Amino acid sequence: MNSVLGGERPEIAGRAVFVAPDDGVVFDGGVGSDARPSAGDGIARELARLVDPSVPADAAERAIAVDQTNTSVIVDERLVVKVVGRWAAAERAAHLLERLADAGSTDVAGYAGRVDWRHPTRGTSTLAVVTEYLPGAQDGWDWAVDDVVALLADGAPEPDFPAILGATVARLHDVLGADAAPAPDDAAAARERRAAAALDAALEATARTGGPAAARLANRAASVHRDIRSLGATAPGLVFDLHGDLHVGQVLRSPGSPPRYTVIDFDGDPQLDASERGRTDGAARDVAHLLVSLDLVAAVAQKRLGRAEPAAFAWADRARSDLLDAYRATLVRSGLFDPALVPGLEAEQLAAELTYADRFLPRWRYAPDAAITHRHPSTDDHPEDPWTPPPSEPTSS
Ligand code: ADP
Ligand code: MG
Repeated sequence: MNSVLGGERPEIAGRAVFVAPDDGVVFDGGVGSDARPSAGDGIARELARLVDPSVPADAAERAIAVDQTNTSVIVDERLVVKVVGRWAAAERAAHLLERLADAGSTDVAGYAGRVDWRHPTRGTSTLAVVTEYLPGAQDGWDWAVDDVVALLADGAPEPDFPAILGATVARLHDVLGADAAPAPDDAAAARERRAAAALDAALEATARTGGPAAARLANRAASVHRDIRSLGATAPGLVFDLHGDLHVGQVLRSPGSPPRYTVIDFDGDPQLDASERGRTDGAARDVAHLLVSLDLVAAVAQKRLGRAEPAAFAWADRARSDLLDAYRATLVRSGLFDPALVPGLEAEQLAAELTYADRFLPRWRYAPDAAITHRHPSTDDHPEDPWTPPPSEPTSS
């Protein structure tokens, strides 16, 4: 059930909420992080009760995750209330979750509803999205890596998740792609330009930092660039509102037999400006990003094992083809997917991962470095060391 609040400063759990000039959504009576809702203040519970009146007035609140733009709180151990941190930040996610819910999808968390805000000067936008809480769910950087380490270290059976993920994404694309439209005539050139810029940024960032990863990338830039150039010769194809930031970390696995896989976080690509985040794209974008993340899982697994292990990438090879086969076998609207885009979009995503690591998370660099080193042939122009994983810390990927 959807609900609407009105006014410039509606009150929620005794706190007025307003939009600051910088678009920040601020709860009165707090500064800094206190201007945001947090577990225990009753804001998430009151929002949950607006979409689901069966939530008790004294239901418990528990913190879940804080990102830069939104705040999520678990209410009553059964709902997740995501409150926007900026005006309009949840517009895209709310819209896509609603379409998936209307289509009966069980590949996303159940959708309880949203609370919209009819603002006197800004128009109407979503203040909070309420979805089903998945108890015991782990994200893919945990469960996928666990499965691969078990395979490699303990001889556990081949994980079955790659084919499950492929089929899952195909079902999402069949729903979201119902209103796909032809891309503009110059789409291929635009894709190639964007990917080439991503490679330039990665080369620049990596050269600035230096070290063995820089030599390994420099030796493979020609091969990466070849894949990127192939985008220029592709057909414009069909574009629609897809996930936009798909990787195994966006897939939760909940305990059960069989376990349930749930795709989350339809906010779009966080590396894009808010204005660009909602743009449509070809299905191959999601597929390529998910395939890249399997290589990154192989890298994280090697870090956990404490050695470079060729069997990890041999697993990734099998996983990639299982995922792709299942995706193509399941996708009903087969015209949505152009496999010719995949190598170029994968190359772009690997470059983007390196740049992301350089800017925000230097300890992540080893993972895209491993994938690029493995997937691309070297020109041997620069002396280089073989890739080896950094020391494993028990608590991080
Ligand atoms: P962010 O934009 O901050 O990454 P996400 O929506 O991706 O927010 O969620 C962040 C984390 O919160 C996930 O990795 C997961 O651990 C947890 N989470 C998100 N949605 C749910 C849910 N419906 N049930 C259980 N846990 C969830
Ligand atoms: Mg996320």
